[in-house]
Amino acid sequence: MTTHYASTRGGQQGVSASQAILQGLASDGGLFVPEVFPEIALDFDKLKEQSYQEIALLIMKAFYSDFSEKELIACIEAAYDEKFDTPTIAPVKKVGTDYYLELFHGPTLAFKDMALSILPYLMTTAAKKNQSTNELVILTATSGDTGKAAMEGFADVENTKIIVFYPKEGVSKIQEQQMRTQKGDNTFVVAVNGNFDDAQTRVKEMFNDTTLRDELAANQKQFSSANSINIGRLIPQVVYYVYAYAQLVKENELKNGQAMDISVPTGNFGNILAGYYAKKLGVPIGKLICASNQNNVLTDFFTNGTYDRNREFYVTSSPSMDILISSNLERLLYEVSNQSATVTKQLMDDLTSKGSYALDDTLRKGLADFLVAYATDEQTQDAIQRVFDQERYVIDPHTAVAKHALDQMTQLENPALIVSTASPYKFPESVVRAFDEVKQVENEFDWVTSLYEETHLTIPPAVKTLFESPILHDRVIPVDDMLACVKEILNLD
Ligand SMILES: *Cc1c(COP(=O)(O)O)cnc(C)c1O
Repeated sequence: MTTHYASTRGGQQGVSASQAILQGLASDGGLFVPEVFPEIALDFDKLKEQSYQEIALLIMKAFYSDFSEKELIACIEAAYDEKFDTPTIAPVKKVGTDYYLELFHGPTLAFKDMALSILPYLMTTAAKKNQSTNELVILTATSGDTGKAAMEGFADVENTKIIVFYPKEGVSKIQEQQMRTQKGDNTFVVAVNGNFDDAQTRVKEMFNDTTLRDELAANQKQFSSANSINIGRLIPQVVYYVYAYAQLVKENELKNGQAMDISVPTGNFGNILAGYYAKKLGVPIGKLICASNQNNVLTDFFTNGTYDRNREFYVTSSPSMDILISSNLERLLYEVSNQSATVTKQLMDDLTSKGSYALDDTLRKGLADFLVAYATDEQTQDAIQRVFDQERYVIDPHTAVAKHALDQMTQLENPALIVSTASPYKFPESVVRAFDEVKQVENEFDWVTSLYEETHLTIPPAVKTLFESPILHDRVIPVDDMLACVKEILNLD
């Protein structure tokens, strides 16, 4: 069975997986989705004995069907190796009555590593398969975690460049330090005076700018995306839901076939959409809890059927979720409209022109698998403190948002899996504040030390060396200069 991809807005069809990965965004601004959803036999009594890498191969073979098995194995083995600090790659921890799926054991301490450690290999393999000799220019807007994880993956990868834009005031100090110390001659980090949505909108505009596209082509270059709109990021995220379920069956925490609910801290809607895809494939997932912070545009959307981005933007203690336009929701709209590109395109056009769109009752029925809740910063802190006090387990603010949301769902009876998306050491100040609200420190690294003193959680080696590494990037620009900045970096004009 071959899986072909089409744009959610109808402008492209019959696209191979490798072309879709190379292209990133479809030419009409839509997102690539499978034309026919692949069927995979999931026998959890067998899968429970398989490694993360073996399960990755099973899933990717079906979705990336124009890659050979040999090519996929090479990508998977290069991605999921010792750069993860545990051989299980994505461990599931039982904490009280909850299960946490720890997705932060990769090099940049957040779940973006799960997909971004493999994306460069998928992309360079895809380029070879399509006889493309163009230099790939990865253009990415980041709310803090994607940028670092993408650069870590693409640093010094031949015939690629990566340009990352982040909101100057919208990321944690650790995230900023991680990005500004990034090595690799092909990496470029730019702070912008604006928020994540401003940056992401400009990046999307550049992708859709046909003049720019031609100019790049004339210089043997082409853009691609490392954001979660790329199907090359989404499918690797399906893997850990299959793996987590298999582990819970293996540990006799779940009977094979028994449903589990999942709670996912959500921003761009990539992670939870991967959970939805996993459910479509047959993983016994009950409800998907979409957990938001104060930027609760998704809470409102699932509650009343109207998506409205015209609202105040908040900088919160879970910055990787400070987003008002959740791009991957477009893929869900496509599913709930029975794969209708016409309906999806209309909704997206409304979003562009009015900043909002509304679903009719039929479409809203398709959202029944989802439950929603959001956490304020105060509720986030409470969750961190409560879990530590009761269980001696430390969670980061993003994971705490998911824990808070789950705890609102008193009607649920299935075992629940909380998707844990970052190491507490990536956001040490916010975590320490949950224990000691008035704490003051001399410099940023002291937050790391205080977190250790509070919890005795082992400090990851990558954090220890962070503040000794030289700063290699210092560009700061207004959002409106992003295009000019890209041209300067690429020597265009
Ligand atoms: C990116 C990110 C999220 C949000 O994930 P989406 O796929 O964008 O919904 C949550 N937590 C952390 C730590 C992240 O880096």
